This record gives sequence, C-alpha cells and structure tokens, in this order.
Amino acid sequence: MTIDVAEEHRMIIDLVEKFVDNELMPLERAVMEREASGEPVSLIKEEEATLLEKCKKLGLWALDAPEPLGGAELPTTVMLAIQERLRRTVTPFIFPPDSPNLHMLMDVATPEQKEKYMRPYAQGEMKSCIAISEPGAGGDPAQMRTRAVREGGEWVINGRKIWVSNVPSSDFVILMAVTDPDKGARGGITAFVVDKGTAGFNVEREIRMLGGARTYELAIEDLHLKDSQVLG
Ligand SMILES: Cc1cc2nc3c(=O)[nH]c(=O)nc-3n(C[C@H](O)[C@H](O)[C@H](O)COP(=O)(O)OP(=O)(O)OC[C@H]3O[C@@H](n4cnc5c(N)ncnc54)[C@H](O)[C@@H]3O)c2cc1C
Repeated sequence: MTIDVAEEHRMIIDLVEKFVDNELMPLERAVMEREASGEPVSLIKEEEATLLEKCKKLGLWALDAPEPLGGAELPTTVMLAIQERLRRTVTPFIFPPDSPNLHMLMDVATPEQKEKYMRPYAQGEMKSCIAISEPGAGGDPAQMRTRAVREGGEWVINGRKIWVSNVPSSDFVILMAVTDPDKGARGGITAFVVDKGTAGFNVEREIRMLGGARTYELAIEDLHLKDSQVLG
C-alpha cells in the first residue's frame, strides 16, 4: 500500500523498515524452530529485552501516544504503514506499549489510575491485557455473562473469560463485567482494572491458537474490587 506521508514520518517508516530487516528478520529462524518444536511463536525474554533497548535508543517507542507521555503522536496512516512493515516478518513484535489499552486509559482513567497504570504503561515499565471475550459469547457483549455485583461497599465479580492474549506477561488486566443486566451491552457493562495476583483472578488454561500464538482462559471467582478499580 502506498500512503502519502510527511518527510519526517517517512524517515520513521524507513527506520522501522531497517529495524525489521536488521533486528527482527535475523530472529526468524529461532522463532520458526520454536514453532516446529511445539512452543509458542514468540520471543524469549532475552531477545525481547534486547529489542526493547534498541527501540528506546532509536525512538521507536510510544509511537501513537501523546507527547506529554513521551510519545510521538503519529497519525493513524503512519501507524498503518508501520504495522505493514512489521508484518513483513514472522517474528512477533510490536513497538510498546500496545496502543488499544493505552488509548482506553487515556480516554477514561481517573487521575490516580493515570498515575498508577497509564504513565508506567506508556513508558514501557508495565504491561497489560484486556479480558472481554467469553465462552459462549465470543466478542459479542450482548451475551456477556461475567457479573459484577455490589456487596458491602465493594464489587464482587464472577464469570469466565476466554482467548485473552498476553496474560502471563501483564501487570494489570482491564476486565469487562456486566453491572446492570437490564441495560446489558447498552450501558450495563463496566471496565475494571485488576492487578496481577489479585485473589479470585485465576488463569485456568493456556489455549494454542492457529499460527502459534497463545491465549488464556480465565476463571473469575469471587474477585473483590474496590471502587477505585472501576476504570474511569
Ligand atoms: C489471536 C487472538 C487473540 C485474541 N485476544 C483477545 C484478548 O486479548 N482479549 C479478548 O477479550 N479476546 C481476545 N480474542 C478473542 C476475540 O476478540 C473474539 O472474541 C473471538 O475471536 C471471537 O470472534 P468473533 O467475535 O469474531 O466471533 P463471534 O463472537 O462468533 O462473532 C462472529 C461475528 O459476529 C459479529 N458480532 C458478534 N456479536 C455482535 C453483535 N452483538 N452485533 C453485531 N455484530 C456482532 C462479530 O463482530 C463477528 O464478526 C482473541 C482472539 C484471537 C484469535
């Protein structure tokens, strides 16, 4: 795809292209050998750490985050061109942080949540994942069954989530649950921020996906959260 971009953005895209050629493609053999032996198509910690260090040095970091967060505020068209370059290799890599969660936090997090989660996340000091999909519902929020109810001034959450990516490496999870069944998908679903290791947040099993990725099924059992864990 050819996209008209400003000269400074063209330079970033060229830099990404070189990064793919020089840093990611040389890892393809190791990644494919892992897949052939039944392991996930993923990078090992040392490989990822080296790549992240290089990204920081090159300024390939927080590319679509706002400038006050140390980001480059690249427009969507440039991000698309960057994604296209990254997909030239089978080596799985994204420039941190993965932006959908960052943008959700930017839009709705409270000032305290921004300080605790969003800032370190934008700096690459924390990782996160998002748990929406459910067995029997897929990505359809109208069928979501995970319930959050008020009990003694807290939220108590029960339910199951499936196909959640990046669970083992995440420091916190954005978890969606139904808080008002009458409204359901039309205003009755609330997002919570759950810290890793919170009692009641159980990783039930690893799921092998086509293409070598891994996702996870979660069993949420009497997970107690305070109001401060409601996102926004
Ligand atoms: C590699 C991989 C990683 C994933 N990572 C995550 C993750 O991190 N977190 C997570 O929560 N999930 C994750 N998922 C699950 C994913 O988001 C979907 O829930 C799952 O793949 C089911 O897909 P679907 O919604 O297209 O299928 P279905 O739920 O069967 O839906 C089929 C189609 O109907 C449409 N549809 C469904 N409900 C409605 C509706 N109410 N109105 C209009 N259209 C509707 C869907 O958009 C879709 O096009 C992952 C899936 C994969 C394959």
